[in-house]
Amino acid sequence: MKGVSEEGVMTVHLTCPNCGSGIHVYPSQSSKKATCDICQHEVSLSFNSDHEEGILQDCPCCGRKDFYVQKDFNRKIGVVLFIIASILAIYTYGISLIVLWLFDLFLFSKIGNIAICYNCQSIFRKVKNIESIGPFNHEMNDRIVYSGHDFKGEQLDH
Ligand SMILES: [Zn+2]
Ligand SMILES: [Zn+2]
Repeated sequence: MKGVSEEGVMTVHLTCPNCGSGIHVYPSQSSKKATCDICQHEVSLSFNSDHEEGILQDCPCCGRKDFYVQKDFNRKIGVVLFIIASILAIYTYGISLIVLWLFDLFLFSKIGNIAICYNCQSIFRKVKNIESIGPFNHEMNDRIVYSGHDFKGEQLDH
């Protein structure tokens, strides 16, 4: 260990292929498997020293190198807030929507980025090389998900 503080550690959130529950793991070369708390299904993982340092080059779950960056934002909460603000807008002459918009701006500036694997949808938090990962690209997503294409970490430029 090189004095990595707990808050600096990358976390991996994968989806159980058996029941769809979330499984949380911390990168460690000694953990070769993660067990689902809900259905006890075992998922194989391959962590390397990069992962332990918070560097994401290869997906520990599927071995692919294609990721995208997204804001760590709970969309369900966003939708609920929008519905509430829309209803209130009738009574507040639209002011509640402006409040929501400001709230959104504030929230977004506070929220960190997460990296997601195009292929297996695993979510990575506190990734040190997040700057090197591009935003979501529809064409890449379609080609990876529907035709099994492997970009090997190359960004598709348009
Ligand atoms: Zn499960
Ligand atoms: Zn993956």
